Amino acid sequence: MPPSGWEHFGDYNDLGGLDGECELCGTAIRYVFPVYHARWGTMEVGEVCCDHLTSSDFATNQMRHVKRRTRFLFSNR
Ligand SMILES: [Zn+2]
Repeated sequence: MPPSGWEHFGDYNDLGGLDGECELCGTAIRYVFPVYHARWGTMEVGEVCCDHLTSSDFATNQMRHVKRRTRFLFSNR
C-alpha cells in the first residue's frame, strides 16, 4: 500500500453508529471517509487514518463541524 499520495474525495458517510470498519487500522468507525490513490484504488477509512493518509486535516475539520452541529441540536432541546 502506498504510504502517501492519497486524496480524500466526496463527503464522509455517517453510518449512525459504529457500524463501519477502517480499512487501514480495523477500528470500528461511524464516520467513513473515502480516500483514493491512483496506484491502489479506493479505501474507506476513519477520521484519523484519513488525515494520516492525505497528510491534511480535512477529516478533523469535517468532524469539528459535525460535533458543533450535534452540540447545537442538543442544547436546543
Ligand atoms: Zn484507521
